Amino acid sequence: MPSCGRWKIGVEGTVQGVGFRPFVYRLARSLEVTGFVQNTTDGVMIEAEAPIPALEKFVSEIRTGHPSLARVHNVVHEEIESKEDSDFQIIVSKSPSGFNTEISPDIAPCDECARELLNSSDRRHSYPFINCTNCGPRYSIIQSLPYDRPKTTMQKFEMCDACADEYRDPENRRFHAQPNACHVCGPRVFLTRFYERTNVPTYERTNGAEILSTAELLNAGKIVAIKGVGGFHLACDATNSEAVMELRRRKRRDEKPFAVMVADIGAAKTLCHISVTEEMLLTSPERPIVLLKKKAGPQISDAVAPNNKNLGLMLPSSPLHYLLFNFDARRMTHDLPAGRHGARRVLVMTSANISDEPLVYTNADALERLAKIADGFLMHDRDIHIRIDDSIARVVDGKSQIIRRARGYTPAPIRLEFEMPPVLALGADLKSAICITRGRNAYLSQHLGDLENPLAHKSFEETVEHLQNILGVTPKIIAHDLHPNYFSTRFAYDFCQRQATSDKRQLVAVQHHHAHIASCMAENNLPDENVIGIALDGTGFGTDGTSWGGEVLIANYKSFERAARFKPVPMPGGDAAAKEPWRMAISYLSLVASRQSLAIDKLPLSERIDSKSIQLISEMIEKNINCPMTSSCGRLFDAVASLIGLRTVNSFEGQAAIELEQIADEREGGIYNYDIGTRDQGPGTIDFGPMIEEIVSDLSHGTPNSTISTRFHNTVMDALVKVCLDIKTRVSNLESRVCCSGGSLQNAILATRLKKRLEHCGFRVYTQRLVPPNDGGIALGQAVIAAHKFRDS
Ligand code: ZN
Ligand code: ZN
Ligand code: FE
Repeated sequence: MPSCGRWKIGVEGTVQGVGFRPFVYRLARSLEVTGFVQNTTDGVMIEAEAPIPALEKFVSEIRTGHPSLARVHNVVHEEIESKEDSDFQIIVSKSPSGFNTEISPDIAPCDECARELLNSSDRRHSYPFINCTNCGPRYSIIQSLPYDRPKTTMQKFEMCDACADEYRDPENRRFHAQPNACHVCGPRVFLTRFYERTNVPTYERTNGAEILSTAELLNAGKIVAIKGVGGFHLACDATNSEAVMELRRRKRRDEKPFAVMVADIGAAKTLCHISVTEEMLLTSPERPIVLLKKKAGPQISDAVAPNNKNLGLMLPSSPLHYLLFNFDARRMTHDLPAGRHGARRVLVMTSANISDEPLVYTNADALERLAKIADGFLMHDRDIHIRIDDSIARVVDGKSQIIRRARGYTPAPIRLEFEMPPVLALGADLKSAICITRGRNAYLSQHLGDLENPLAHKSFEETVEHLQNILGVTPKIIAHDLHPNYFSTRFAYDFCQRQATSDKRQLVAVQHHHAHIASCMAENNLPDENVIGIALDGTGFGTDGTSWGGEVLIANYKSFERAARFKPVPMPGGDAAAKEPWRMAISYLSLVASRQSLAIDKLPLSERIDSKSIQLISEMIEKNINCPMTSSCGRLFDAVASLIGLRTVNSFEGQAAIELEQIADEREGGIYNYDIGTRDQGPGTIDFGPMIEEIVSDLSHGTPNSTISTRFHNTVMDALVKVCLDIKTRVSNLESRVCCSGGSLQNAILATRLKKRLEHCGFRVYTQRLVPPNDGGIALGQAVIAAHKFRDS
């Protein structure tokens, strides 16, 4: 018999609440290993006793065979004294602080649960809240730590005997599955409907046929508010243009695309072109909305995503969604039009809110705030503790990239290369998200919307509170954007004031684009060495008090230098210029040296904007009235989109830029002129005036917009590469690393081709994948910068 040993094995990572201990238990039993497993502050700790070869196999299986939701960062082991236990046990411990456990995100039904859900002989057949240790709600239902049923919104449901047996059985898939429930003991779904025959706002409930009745409402072109994992969706039949238009009207949302949900990947493939990577993303347990290229053909209403080649598509993320696609149509009270039933249906599933207000997530709020929008409410009595929107992701350059980080991803940490002090970083005001750090982990909150909307403030404050609680972190450093008027900046000051004690709290203001670049550096685990940072976005407060946005920085985690920027131009009317791209077109035309000879009235722009308005804006620029300067990249895209007549007014953020990108003709290789100003003291200047002049000339020669768009993209990229090459020759110790971030990097042409061009010139290029390149990723950069500055101060 080979010699026995006892090993103490430490496993670090996301290994709690994801079925990891039962996995270790079953593995130990199968290898005849004795000892125990328990949760610790950093993961799990195992003591294992067996012949050495069995222990070796045990450890290797832990590394490679663990449950899919677990993330194992590190496995270490050491030899210890034998204890000769008689069996292997799961020790259900509350760690002393009870805090440092990692909470799993909310996860879509696993394959086994999905099968049971649709299996008519299973005791949970058609049960909308089926879950197990491998799936189900987590972050959205946890009120405080330790993660235990009484500390979740499941507390009011007492498990029946059958559920309790599963919960206690280490061999069972539902061992310690905190939200475990069934038809007998768990939450219930109900449909509440505006009573249609009177105008009296009374609501009726249906009994036992909620899903069918919901399907009937949807088929009749009605709008139904459906409670999902992190909040309500507004749903309607995506093939019914009238229904979709009515939803737009009631929701006050003109053209911003709606996301759709379909039953499964098969149904998804009939609507969109889907690569292998995109399929993996769609079907991943996180179930984000994935931006995909629409297939031709009138399968869904044009009103779902007007003037857009892409479609945001997701698969069901809760068992209730599964049932919406899998009800028994034979039980319906009337026949369905072909193609509208069950598995073939396509539903608009858009966040339940009016305009840009925060997502509705409580039943009471839904009935009140959505009363004028929804015809029916498919609700349930499992409360959502903290709202969390759908995540949005896409595949760029063959790899997935998160654009909006929320359900399915929050609060999974970003793993850093270095130990962090406890920092609270408050992000920016648009696409708000905060970040809290603990040890080597950075926890980004879910997307919190736009803080320009006062209704979002409460949600922001709650999240700051909640994240601190569930992480057990008391921040010592508070990081915020440099913008003095941001809500998040004022919040940072108030927060420090309120908590003012003798401890060393420090308030650190971080420049917006420095934060973008540091976010990219941190995500890519780069060391604290200078990189070239290309930060392209709409706006960010600069150290000179003006609005920045087309920036090339030389940056590390502590400091940065503004090496170059797009030549600042006037923004006539300030923020109004972001909503009305035509103002930026006029502004950029003012850069053109020979502008006196420009026949503005011959430009496509003039067909849409009257000459008086153009005159007025021109005068504002000339006399410098309400014309703050900006080096924004987003505004440059707006200007060009408007100049060629694509779009004069944005009905949602980035619309003009998106349309400009989508018309680009991939085959075109042309490029326009630009100037790179010589550097004396300040940053270098990239002047696109010559480009604007050539675009005007192209327009007068009838060059197609698709050609102009591509030449424009090529010009921007060419200028940036040239600036990078110049920096490389000028600055030593650069290691040739380039980090690209900022909202404009959501432009797929920039994201893919700029990277290729830079790599072609010998640069190592880093982009963002786990963290959004837009302002949703700012907080991570702020946190890392603040920690490094604090350390050195
Ligand atoms: Zn499951
Ligand atoms: Zn039960
Ligand atoms: Fe930004």
